[in-house]
Amino acid sequence: MRASAEPGVIVHGGAGRWSLVFEITREANLHINQDKIVAGVAEASRRGYRVLEDSGSPVDAVVAAIRYMEDSGLFNAGVGSSLDASGQLGMDAGLMNGSTGEAVGVARVRHPRNPIVLARSLLGKTDHVIIACEPADRLAEKLGLERHPGPSPRALALYKWALREIEEGRMESVWRRNQELARLLGLLGDTVGAVAIDHEGRIAAGVSTGGVSFKLPGRIGDSPVPGAGFYAWSNAGGVAATGRGELALLTQVSARAADLMAELGDPQLSLEKILSLVEDRYGPGLGLIGFNKNGEYGVAYNTEAMPWAYTGGLGDKWGFWRQ
Ligand code: ASP
Repeated sequence: MRASAEPGVIVHGGAGRWSLVFEITREANLHINQDKIVAGVAEASRRGYRVLEDSGSPVDAVVAAIRYMEDSGLFNAGVGSSLDASGQLGMDAGLMNGSTGEAVGVARVRHPRNPIVLARSLLGKTDHVIIACEPADRLAEKLGLERHPGPSPRALALYKWALREIEEGRMESVWRRNQELARLLGLLGDTVGAVAIDHEGRIAAGVSTGGVSFKLPGRIGDSPVPGAGFYAWSNAGGVAATGRGELALLTQVSARAADLMAELGDPQLSLEKILSLVEDRYGPGLGLIGFNKNGEYGVAYNTEAMPWAYTGGLGDKWGFWRQ
């Protein structure tokens, strides 16, 4: 293992059309604004970094950062999770330890308040990589994890909005609903993700989401799939993705970005190169954050916005709108 990386935690609060999220939630008197979102990602990265300083575990730092955002109800994850087309929850999350190469994804769960905690509880305990639906929920129950409180006001507001768009004929196709939603109206995706690296260069990455708004029941996105929604390899790099999950799945964007970091060294350049490759093939709609093996970070997105924050040895930083 290399020594002397710059320790840090970087988080994102989801790539998408945040102006629309603010508009819809304002109409519903929910007061979710940019300041709150920026404060949310900044606090998440600080909490993750504190864990890194205290316990030194990048995996636990990632979990702490994501758990905070799941609990906040401000993002499309955990308490704030968006609903599928039938108005149900179906949350996805994933976590990878770049030092052991182990990863666990949980897909379409409804029981846990914190799907990332379920993934953490299973990491290292099974060599299965993805566990889905009711059996995953039963595990959460058996493990005594806190129950999800049910759809939040934010999730209900976004759901009602999407329903109206469809009823008023602005989205037509049933089977391609989410791609249409993304193309015509902009994404409402605001999944959360985090990557952490300690001073020895150990890297972990994770994500958690309610999935894209109004997804078809049964759809599983990129977030529980290592290589697509997240990836970490301690001598290469670590990446967390957000946006149109289908694009991340079709291109295995996180693994490729992490491997490219190992090859090129420059994390920003690596993320931008992979992002433009995906955009050339499928169009825009993704965001990526990540560290190279030295703890230098990169942030790239081709959506309207993606709140992100970094806490660590290189000086705290955050961003929101696309420049
Ligand atoms: N990638 C997530 C999904 O497709 C959504 C998001 O990042 O907002 O489920």
